This record gives sequence, structure tokens and C-alpha cells, in this order.
Amino acid sequence: MKNLPVNRKFKISGTADNVSKEEVRALLHAVDVLLCYHNVDNQNDQIHVKFVNDLYLGKTKCDGTCTGRYIDLEKKLSYDDMITAIIHEMVHVYFDIATGFEKITSTLTARIKKDVSRIANILVENTYKRAGYIAHTKISYAPKGRRKDYYDQDQNHSDYEGSAGKKYRAKKKGSEIDLFQDLFKKGDHNVDS
Ligand SMILES: [Zn+2]
Repeated sequence: MKNLPVNRKFKISGTADNVSKEEVRALLHAVDVLLCYHNVDNQNDQIHVKFVNDLYLGKTKCDGTCTGRYIDLEKKLSYDDMITAIIHEMVHVYFDIATGFEKITSTLTARIKKDVSRIANILVENTYKRAGYIAHTKISYAPKGRRKDYYDQDQNHSDYEGSAGKKYRAKKKGSEIDLFQDLFKKGDHNVDS
């Protein structure tokens, strides 16, 4: 695997007055996940996000601006306005629609804001606990002897409730068998990859 720098997609400079660093990162990644899921990706390796004191576009004071892969945000924005501005500027960048396409950008921002917030909430919650698990995984040594694939039963517990999972569980009412565990048993997934 290519050694990618931490947060390769986003380089954040400065801080927002009313939104934490973790929340900013979570929101940026949440928009990225949601738009990439729908095959809208940006063509840049890295997007630069900068918090600026007294942001102007020409002579007009504004919440956010973007040029290519550079996003500037007014650092003093209120909590709610900052969340809107982050999503709004990300839509501009990912669709490569510069300032001027405001109606279409604002409309999509409003439509995806709720789902982006849900994803970001999950990312923010337990940030440091998860970072600890990930750090531990990175420093783990390869086991000695023959490398046999092994699936720990712990990993089968999940809160995932996708549409397929709901239907599946409805059919299996009363069964304790977890969705993924049973799928693996049926060989729908290759466990030896
Ligand atoms: Zn705009």
C-alpha cells in the first residue's frame, strides 16, 4: 500500500472560533464520503481549507469562498453557519462549480446537510478512542509461524441496519445469528482474501 500522508484529502490551516478542529475534519470527510458514494469525487489530491479573520470577496464580506482546491472560511462564523459554509464550499469544489452557481449549490447543501451531519456525528464521537485502536493496529507485529486467516467472533457484532439487513433479520425473527456471520457462512464473501 502506498504510504499516504495523514489526512491526505484535507489540509486545514487555522481554527474556527466556534467549531472544533475534530468537527471540521469530520464534516469535511462526511461530505467527501457522501458525494463519493454518489460518484462525485474531486480531482485534487488535497483540498486546502483555511480559516480567515474578516473574509471578503472583493468588497463583500462573506462566509466562505473557493478557488479550485482552496477553500477559505470566515473563522468567526456561528456554529450553524460554519457547518453550512463547510458543506456549501465543498459542493462548489466537488462539482467544480465556481462561485456564481449559488442557487444550485445552496439547494444541494440544504438537501444533504442532515445526512452529512449524521455521518459527521459518528466520526466525531469516539474520535480519540478509535484513533487509539488504529494506532494499535499500525504497530501490531505479524504473527510468527504459518499465517492462517482467522476471524475473531467479536467482529461479528454490529449495529449496521442496512435495508438488506432489516429484511434479513425480519425473516430470521428470533434468531441470534448475526447478519454478517451468516453471510460469511454462506460463502457470499471470501474470508480468505
Ligand atoms: Zn457559494
